[in-house]
Amino acid sequence: MHSFRFTAEPLPAEAEAAREAVRAFLAAELAAGGFVPHRTTWTTFDPDFSRRAGAAGFVGLTVPTEYGGHGRSGLVRYVVTEEMLAAGAPCGAHWIADRQSGPQILRHGTEAAKRAILPRICAGDCSFGIGMSEPGSGSDLAAVRTRAVRDGDGWVINGSKIWTTNAHRVDYLLALVRTGDPGPDRHGGLTQFIVDLAAPGVTVRPILDLSGHHEFNEVFFSDYRVSDAMMVGAEGAGWGLVTEELAFERSGPDRFLSDYRLLVETIDRIGPEPDRFQAAETGRLVAQLAALMGMSGSVARLLDRGIVPGVEAALVKDVGTGFEREVPEVARRLVPVEPSLNAQGEPYREALAHTTLRAPSFTLRGGTREVLRGVIARGLGLR
Ligand SMILES: Cc1cc2nc3c(=O)[nH]c(=O)nc-3n(C[C@H](O)[C@H](O)[C@H](O)COP(=O)(O)OP(=O)(O)OC[C@H]3O[C@@H](n4cnc5c(N)ncnc54)[C@H](O)[C@@H]3O)c2cc1C
Repeated sequence: MHSFRFTAEPLPAEAEAAREAVRAFLAAELAAGGFVPHRTTWTTFDPDFSRRAGAAGFVGLTVPTEYGGHGRSGLVRYVVTEEMLAAGAPCGAHWIADRQSGPQILRHGTEAAKRAILPRICAGDCSFGIGMSEPGSGSDLAAVRTRAVRDGDGWVINGSKIWTTNAHRVDYLLALVRTGDPGPDRHGGLTQFIVDLAAPGVTVRPILDLSGHHEFNEVFFSDYRVSDAMMVGAEGAGWGLVTEELAFERSGPDRFLSDYRLLVETIDRIGPEPDRFQAAETGRLVAQLAALMGMSGSVARLLDRGIVPGVEAALVKDVGTGFEREVPEVARRLVPVEPSLNAQGEPYREALAHTTLRAPSFTLRGGTREVLRGVIARGLGLR
């Protein structure tokens, strides 16, 4: 039986120094009115903020300097991410590119793609979406049917993707498509391509979420042409690549800090003299948060060592998103107010309503809890 590879080590001095630097940047931004703290920090799309964060050196931290990055460790990036989320900074325009698409292109992209795209990502000036899910292919990702067919010196793609966050406003999609037969384990014949969403042959259609917001989309490919230079990894190697990408997607503090500001506002609202129940419940949540921070930082350490910690990342996401879902439930038990989407002048009631409506999606996006537990069980040799 295998075991988890979490370690309990203090953060290195360079990471704590980065914390001071990013806090200073965020304080200056707030003072200058650069942003107002958002409840939905990493999904709030603000290209100007992303460009300023890029110019200040807080995007593409782990990308080598020759590709426009900063050559820092994953732990430095971890700390910067934690601070951005805690401050409610609107990071949506650079989030996916910085978290997973950029690192994926760095490790597996062609030299042409690295030179063309990575410097723009690091400048906070290039956004990505995730092109994995399709109708009939969510948890069962191997069932992807969108197909790329070889055509001269490139490929022609036909098919569709669904639930594609921000496809209506990002530059590129990193799409998983079928290029060959699935083989006996169904993991063969899949390849990743960088798709330019402004090019002919791509149509994006909105899907509104429960609260009426437009974040997701359907994306349709109709004879979309893509060159070999935009293929990521080898033909047919897509399953292994997507597994690596998910380790980046699932392990960060965005998987437990989605409603951090609601937690802080709830504690503020309770005030300095909580009753026994309020003290016990908020204490329990804060203790859980501290454990999650340690686990997530530990995954960043493994990534720095070149290990692909798929099982540990799945555990962080499972426990982390369970935590995120619990925060609004506990808040409603501790603070006797009615949530409302239109409680003018009462931001706490609005925060509670928004978070309550969004919370169910926390455990779906990036892989459901049931699927993650399957990954964990397999990784531990239990099934
Ligand atoms: C807010 C949000 C943003 C998203 N953004 C993106 C995006 O940008 N790009 C993208 O590609 N996708 C995105 N998704 C899609 C997301 O990855 C899928 O919704 C998710 O993987 C589940 O797939 P599904 O919706 O098809 O559900 P299904 O796979 O149909 O699952 C339905 C239910 O069955 C359970 N189930 C399925 N298989 C098993 C099994 N083997 N064992 C036990 N239980 C099982 C699931 O846990 C779930 O409860 C997003 C989703 C959300 C909610």
